[in-house]
Amino acid sequence: MNFIEALKSEDIEIVRSFPKADLHNHFVLGGNREYILRKTGYDVKPVTKPLTSMSRMDEWNRQYIGEHFNTPEGRKFLIESTFVQAKYDGVSVLEIGEDVWGLGEFFHNDVGELIYTFQEINHRIAPEIELRLQIGLSRHCPVDYLEDCLKHLWGRKEFYSIDLYGDELAQPIENFVPIYRRAAENGLVLKAHVGEWGTARDIVSTVSQPLTMRTSWTFLPTTAYGSI
Ligand SMILES: [Zn+2]
Repeated sequence: MNFIEALKSEDIEIVRSFPKADLHNHFVLGGNREYILRKTGYDVKPVTKPLTSMSRMDEWNRQYIGEHFNTPEGRKFLIESTFVQAKYDGVSVLEIGEDVWGLGEFFHNDVGELIYTFQEINHRIAPEIELRLQIGLSRHCPVDYLEDCLKHLWGRKEFYSIDLYGDELAQPIENFVPIYRRAAENGLVLKAHVGEWGTARDIVSTVSQPLTMRTSWTFLPTTAYGSI
């Protein structure tokens, strides 16, 4: 059986048995629920029906995750539980990272600590998984704030990609061009969530931005991925 046949079979155990890449994993929400329950006693309820908007998703987040893991230790535990889930799912390449605001909130503004945390958990829980470390940007944040946070991160070769997500309608994609230009200069793979809640016009506008001489984009169902 090949992977396409495995997907068609809808048998998750067969799908798990194939090595695969997970390039879109919201690590805070990507953890293994049973592992979280066993280690912390906190039962994260499963999503039982589709969430139809960003505000519904935020609401679910507030209700079922809330402030439970909003400490440096809690954050690290969520990274750990994400590697546990990825290993269980047969993931061989995992692209995850921290939102820029998390650097100050959970890692004492120390980018070395942030990078070490991800790498140490990678080696301890699932050394067979290739970690692709990502820089995350929330779209509602003012660009000068994001640029200020990013000062700590530029030039660190451990980062593989950059991604933009959150409220797609918060501000136009054009505002982020300077950041993406700098990210391209840093050799990062360029990613942005587009078309999740916005329109087809937003997708066209995003992929048309003149970022570099040679930019290519690939679409996944709700996310545009670009690389140079
Ligand atoms: Zn996403």
